Amino acid sequence: MPKTNSPLGKQQVRRQAQRLRESVDWDPQRALGKRESAAEQWASLEQSDRQGNAYAKAAGCPDCVQAQAEIGDPTGLCEKHLQAAMGLEEAE
Ligand SMILES: [Zn+2]
Repeated sequence: MPKTNSPLGKQQVRRQAQRLRESVDWDPQRALGKRESAAEQWASLEQSDRQGNAYAKAAGCPDCVQAQAEIGDPTGLCEKHLQAAMGLEEAE
């Protein structure tokens, strides 16, 4: 049975991020910082329940953070949450 490649599994990271979201008064827009344009984009996205839900769940996702850094778009999503936002897949 092969060992997992990464010492810190994605599931574990995601679980810790989820715990963080649940333990504090988590606000995706506040978590984005002072970038108003990003907050505005998120606010408009959240007018759609499904997308808003996906984005709320994506907040704090380390994969999404990495995707945002890579593409230079504060509203970027990782593949999983992008699909969730498009309604292709339920976000965890
Ligand atoms: Zn994500």
